[in-house]
Amino acid sequence: MFFLIPEVFQMKKHLRSPRKNLDRLRLCLFKKQMRNIYENVPYYREIFQRLNIVPEDFKHIDDIQKLPIVSKKDINGNLNIFLNENIELWDCYKSHTSGSTGQPFLTYFDKKSWIRKKYLSKLRARMACGMRPGERVAVFESELSGQLESRNRKHPLQQFFLKIKYFSIFDDVAAAIEHLIAFRPQNVYGPQSFLFHLARGIKKTGRTLPFLKRVYTSAEYRESSVTQFIKDVLKVEVYDIYGSTEFKEVAWECERHQGYHINEDEVLCEILDGGKPAPIGEVGDIVLTDLKNTAMPLIRYRIHDRGKLLQAPCRCGRTFSIMLPVGGRASEYILLPDGERISPYRFTTAIEKFKGLLQYQLIQESETDLFVNVIIDSNVGNETCRNIEETIINITRGQMRVIVRKTERILPEENGKFKVVKNMLLKTHSLVQ
Ligand SMILES: [Zn+2]
Repeated sequence: MFFLIPEVFQMKKHLRSPRKNLDRLRLCLFKKQMRNIYENVPYYREIFQRLNIVPEDFKHIDDIQKLPIVSKKDINGNLNIFLNENIELWDCYKSHTSGSTGQPFLTYFDKKSWIRKKYLSKLRARMACGMRPGERVAVFESELSGQLESRNRKHPLQQFFLKIKYFSIFDDVAAAIEHLIAFRPQNVYGPQSFLFHLARGIKKTGRTLPFLKRVYTSAEYRESSVTQFIKDVLKVEVYDIYGSTEFKEVAWECERHQGYHINEDEVLCEILDGGKPAPIGEVGDIVLTDLKNTAMPLIRYRIHDRGKLLQAPCRCGRTFSIMLPVGGRASEYILLPDGERISPYRFTTAIEKFKGLLQYQLIQESETDLFVNVIIDSNVGNETCRNIEETIINITRGQMRVIVRKTERILPEENGKFKVVKNMLLKTHSLVQ
């Protein structure tokens, strides 16, 4: 694994290389990927022929728009034509997801891009946020503890003198706290929802984690009040990361928290509105292109997340562009009786500001019944609940019966992630995009 060290330094240099050098590198990777898909991937060979284009026609990054947008449902059932036919699949790494859309999905990675994505790219981002060799890292995964045992025996990054230990998010919070106190990590990495429960456990029990310096979250729902709560209770800096099983880490927050730096030497990030590039600063669909993976290159892959590109370069001086994911899945809407769909972001932005609201979930049980489960800070009175109810009645224009219920726990989905909005009508209305 020592051969990786020069690669890490090279990748680290990209972070601050002048924009024109970075653009040159991206164009070079892009052209290489266009040649790869033309020569090796049956689906794209056919597209190139149909459109009467060759790899040499891709002269600028924007030429990517010549290719169609694909999504999970296009690939599922047709996997063979999306795979590199000249690569030995047994020699590739596989990543499997059940996904919150309920569609299982399998991605193949060639060895080199797997190592880059799974380890080096993450290491680069964590080190940019202050992690140093010799530190301990606790990683909370959505797998059962038994399944994590083999991964705990040896981790490739131990070559970098990091001590990494995996824990399960399915263990109860009290056990997780004890594990952390025994391991004494400076860094913790895990889903925001789990770390929120952990912080609540810490607050309740009065235990402290004085050794902890940084928390890295992968946020399924991006409520700043939750981040603030974790920060205040654990007395740490919180850095959020945006990624997916198909691409691994896509973008991450630096110490300035002005947005998420896109790993531009790995992935191309488009924000589209109605299929066309959305203006900078405007929210649209996130569409990603893998610049590195040759085994199953996902090109213009609609990830079913929303986000926006941000204009200003980040004050940290790193040249990687910044974006802001806005969370939630396009299919998670509240459907009003008159047919209007209300996006989860409308609720998020409106009710997040209320004092003491720590976590919430909206569940549309029927055409007219909307349940709002809330976890409220115990120091706050019922006023917050009343404010939430009133706000949601306004957003749904009085068409829904809104029932706000205080609760102690909001349960995650099977994959360990939380949904802000759950529409139980999904089976009868075709909302899935
Ligand atoms: Zn920055």
